[in-house]
Amino acid sequence: MRRDPLGKFFLLALIVAVAGLAAVTRAPDAKWVERAAKAAVIGPWIERLADLYRRPAAAAEASDFGGGVEVIYRIDSRRNELRPTVVVEAGSAAGSVPPLGSEPALPLPIPSRPPDPEVLAAARELLAAAKDSQTLGPYTLYTDVRDRGLLIYLSAVAAQLESVYVSRYGLEPLPGAREAVVLFESEASYQQFLAGAPELIQQSAPGLLRSGVVATYSEGRGWSEVAATLIHELTHLVNKRALGPALPPWLDEGLADDLAQSRIEGLRIFPGTLGGSAVRSGSRTEYKGGQAAVIELGRAASAGDLPAIQTLLALDWESFQSVDRRSQRYGQSSFLVRSLLDSSDPGLATAFRGFLRDVSEGQEITGEALLNRLGCSWEALDSQLASFVRRQAVKADLPI
Ligand SMILES: [Zn+2]
Repeated sequence: MRRDPLGKFFLLALIVAVAGLAAVTRAPDAKWVERAAKAAVIGPWIERLADLYRRPAAAAEASDFGGGVEVIYRIDSRRNELRPTVVVEAGSAAGSVPPLGSEPALPLPIPSRPPDPEVLAAARELLAAAKDSQTLGPYTLYTDVRDRGLLIYLSAVAAQLESVYVSRYGLEPLPGAREAVVLFESEASYQQFLAGAPELIQQSAPGLLRSGVVATYSEGRGWSEVAATLIHELTHLVNKRALGPALPPWLDEGLADDLAQSRIEGLRIFPGTLGGSAVRSGSRTEYKGGQAAVIELGRAASAGDLPAIQTLLALDWESFQSVDRRSQRYGQSSFLVRSLLDSSDPGLATAFRGFLRDVSEGQEITGEALLNRLGCSWEALDSQLASFVRRQAVKADLPI
């Protein structure tokens, strides 16, 4: 058969065109795409295609509302009361803006970002004295805290967080941590910084992440409490590098609290253990952190009042953060993660890590995708979470 040179030329041109279009979708921000978009005739088409596949920079850079859940229940053992007194997470209620806009882009891991100079300057301005930067693990730290012991402790926690993350979730985050941490000694200074965030409504949150700046405070809080807030916020940063910036709230907050609710002993984080505290005073006990979450979830599950996991996984940012039952949603997300990773059936942990890997590769994050990976029904997932929580409560002797 005679080879037609013109045919060959068209075939070659077709291959080049298809390869070119595929390359545009994979790297819409590449320099050559920018140049090609200026070309005559095909330029506008390339630009439109690149636009379709470009992750919106504004969305990726938007503020994050991570705050670290701190649930405190005061339980009177004589009257068996359960009164949530503090439920905090800087978040959106009516009128505030979800961190990634209402239409999150396809999540793919993104590199670390340096802090926004204005946001960082505003935070540093509120420190009691102009302080030079220090380091906190791989992060830059600005602080007016003078307690060297606390700074060494927090630095050790921050330094090991990434390796804990890698071994627990089986993901390799993009390298580099360029964000800054501002640790205020004074709660009032921290609240002043929080109030300066235009997108945040007034909240009493112990920590927040905004434009590459993690902020929290130490006044009146135990070391492990400050560490838990720090772990929660830093996990959000690692999530961006390992999974992507536009995660559904259950996943972003679930992983952040899964690690934040771990016990820290001898400067080491023990993932999968139950952190938090129980402080007794006469007949009253005040539960915080992971222990409070177990009590809240355990009681809701016993009363048949725990919303279905399918519902939780479908919530958008605004609904997830709505005040009613907010702490319960955080707890349910965190213990869903735990019940999968720490189940007596190791197949569940493997399947969940497989799901996380899918997410990191940009696959769609739906409840069904998780369910497919796990190979079980929604009902089975709900009941395995409920029995996991009950076992945790028995193990830690918590009143559910
Ligand atoms: Zn958070």
